[in-house]
Amino acid sequence: MRKQILVTGGVGFIGSHTILSLHNAGYEPIIVDNLSNTHTSILDGLSSILGHSPKLHVVDCCDEEAMNAIFKLYNISGVIHFAAFKSVAESVAEPEKYKRNNLDSLQVILKLMDQHQVHHLVFSSSATVYGQPDVNPVLEETPWKEAASPYGWTKQEGERMIQAFAQSHSTFKSALLRYFNPIGAHPSGKIGEYPIGIPNNLIPLVNQAAKGQRELKIFGEDYNTPDGTCIRDYIHVMDLADAHVKALTWLEETPLQVEAFNLGQGKGDSVLEIIRLYEKVNQIKIPFEIAPRRSGDVEQIWADVSKAKKLLNWSTRFSSEEALLHSFQFEKMIDQ
Ligand code: UDP
Repeated sequence: MRKQILVTGGVGFIGSHTILSLHNAGYEPIIVDNLSNTHTSILDGLSSILGHSPKLHVVDCCDEEAMNAIFKLYNISGVIHFAAFKSVAESVAEPEKYKRNNLDSLQVILKLMDQHQVHHLVFSSSATVYGQPDVNPVLEETPWKEAASPYGWTKQEGERMIQAFAQSHSTFKSALLRYFNPIGAHPSGKIGEYPIGIPNNLIPLVNQAAKGQRELKIFGEDYNTPDGTCIRDYIHVMDLADAHVKALTWLEETPLQVEAFNLGQGKGDSVLEIIRLYEKVNQIKIPFEIAPRRSGDVEQIWADVSKAKKLLNWSTRFSSEEALLHSFQFEKMIDQ
């Protein structure tokens, strides 16, 4: 019998790829998603790769009654909690909305895990918890700066809620996965990043610029970096997906209670470097213009990933080149 894992936000970008990794590792994922920021064509792509439709409940994680019914329906042995709003810009405009959705849903999950005796939680955290670090690469114990956006604050607060919950629940364990910049898509081209409306993240916008749908703006070229543009640690979404499975199996064995893990490639690329690499691997020209800095952006950050390598026995398999290739491959499929 496959162990059943509840995956909130399982039709989203990282969630959908994690469904595949879970299935391949012998788990049965149970998806809960309110489909607020993803296209249902991702479900078709998932079903096509899996060879069957995954179990899905179209429910909002803040709806405790509906979530309780789902916890009752299955024999859940762990939860991966992705479901959250994730736009930095939107969070600056509507901080209350972010606070409510991202933290209320976590509160519901923790309460129901307690009620239903589910002890293992993998939490979607983010490099945003660090703010702008003084030194790169950042380690998990690097002290946090003030969050650069309300979105970042919800991730910091989410981690604090989990730490506090663990203190009063001795059998509860959690892996806090701090994602750097997820990019790429499943190599089949059948699933990938497909947000509703105008995307916020760099690569979906580069993809649309590649198709001539918009002109790309580079937010700032006057940062204190070698080429003046911001530096991030870009990681292939399939590598990120695999880390969730490793984290789940680690939780099943470890005596530790709550640990945070950086998940990146462990190297930084500037915005300009990424665009040039995208042009090279996809043999396409990306038109762009230089625009003012974007509010809430940190200048540069990349990860030290030695903790995830050592404790989770995880490492990346895909390069930035492959990620950018897969990303455009998926983008081209969207129009077909
Ligand atoms: N970026 C950009 N133009 C865009 C979107 C993003 O220059 O249209 C830059 C952004 O300023 C940042 C980097 O690309 O330096 C990555 O941005 P993204 O929003 O993807 O991730 P995050 O800022 O959350 O790390």
